[in-house]
Amino acid sequence: MPPRTRSAWFRTLGLLVVILTAAVVVGLLTGQLFPVLTATALGIVAWHYWRLRKVLTRLTARQRLSPSNSNGVWDELDRLLYRGQAEMRGRKRRLMEMLRAYRAAAAALPDAIVVVERNSQRIQWFNESGSRLLGLRYPDDIGASLVQRLQPLPLAHWMAAGRNAEALETMSPLNPAITLSLRLIPYSENLWLLVARDVSRLLQLEQMRRDFVANVSHELRTPLTVIHGYLDMLDPEEQPDWQPMLSEMQRQSQRMTQLVEDLLTLSRLESQDHLPGEEVVSMSSMLNTLRREALALSQGRHQIEVDDAIDIDLYGSSKELHSAFSNLVSNAVRYTPAGGRIEIALRADDHGGAVLQVTDSGYGIPASHLPRITERFYRVSTSRSRESGGTGLGLAIVKHVLNLHEATLDIASEVGRGSTFACHFHPSRVRRRDIAGGRQQASA
Ligand code: ADP
Repeated sequence: MPPRTRSAWFRTLGLLVVILTAAVVVGLLTGQLFPVLTATALGIVAWHYWRLRKVLTRLTARQRLSPSNSNGVWDELDRLLYRGQAEMRGRKRRLMEMLRAYRAAAAALPDAIVVVERNSQRIQWFNESGSRLLGLRYPDDIGASLVQRLQPLPLAHWMAAGRNAEALETMSPLNPAITLSLRLIPYSENLWLLVARDVSRLLQLEQMRRDFVANVSHELRTPLTVIHGYLDMLDPEEQPDWQPMLSEMQRQSQRMTQLVEDLLTLSRLESQDHLPGEEVVSMSSMLNTLRREALALSQGRHQIEVDDAIDIDLYGSSKELHSAFSNLVSNAVRYTPAGGRIEIALRADDHGGAVLQVTDSGYGIPASHLPRITERFYRVSTSRSRESGGTGLGLAIVKHVLNLHEATLDIASEVGRGSTFACHFHPSRVRRRDIAGGRQQASA
């Protein structure tokens, strides 16, 4: 007990003793000891009840207490209650200020934020951008079903994925010119946060970048063809001193031509959402072509094995698949020193899909480079890539082609031991060949 409270307690006890003693004296003097003592005790009890009632009324009326200046035990209780109440009020005020600041920050965000109740998917709160981007109206839409309210957007299926829902790009229900990127963030047991961001400007910039690269590459094509043509026409026999310069110029112009071709291929792939012409791609002739290309590139420096005992074909674009696979084969040849082994194989996987795998016993790729290896112009060693005639775009093309075929690329590599690039195709892309009858059937 703090000293102040203890002294108030003892003072009240002391007062009680004094009053009772006075009552005994008065009782003895008047000869009415028992009645006087009883009346005094009842008075004391009544007074305590009265104070207790006062405290209760003030507490239940949620009145602001004021500290008492007296120093009895009831006044001490008043003082302690006043202190507790003041502390509580201060804490509440600070919390309210914080809450107001958070709400103001969330309201001022340029992204639309909607708090949604998880099970019922009803709207609990949204900020101003929620009205601007999603067309939500306050207060009518509080408590409304989010999926119904944003009806034209395909949200029902997406929200069912919950925690695993990937960012969804879709048009704004208010203005089809605005593209929104929607993300679902579960932030408590019962509440989800729907964040919608206007990505129209980003998409526009991305489109401008693509157009720029495509236009520049296209414009470079003609002058390069001309330069290349004239270089081919020059006869080094006439000017033997020019021989080293001419062959270097030819090499460089060839590299530039390849770079431009790769950039155009990438732009074309990037501008496609789906493959234009899909067909059954005969994989035995594809593997034969790849074998021929590998042998031509290797010039007998490597042992090349192609496992073509297969009864699988793929469904997709023959031209794009060939461009992806030949990039992998060309990389395997270019990044494997002479005497190495390269294996190209196509096999069925355990889930009805298929895997095309290019394995080499070459330089390998350090694990730290693997996450970025398919980025444009990303190279492990720039000098090695240039020496081998690389443009830095090969794997970016592979990735794009596989994306268009809903396929994935797996890379396993060990420095000094070699690499395996595996393209995994979904069962829907696989056609099993009835070898005897030459008929095709989907494997799925
Ligand atoms: P590049 O035209 O430079 O070969 P790619 O996009 O095809 O560009 O490959 C990117 C980089 O990945 C290459 O520069 C090389 O460092 C590395 N790489 C690709 N394939 C292999 C491989 N089979 N073995 C070792 N490194 C490889």
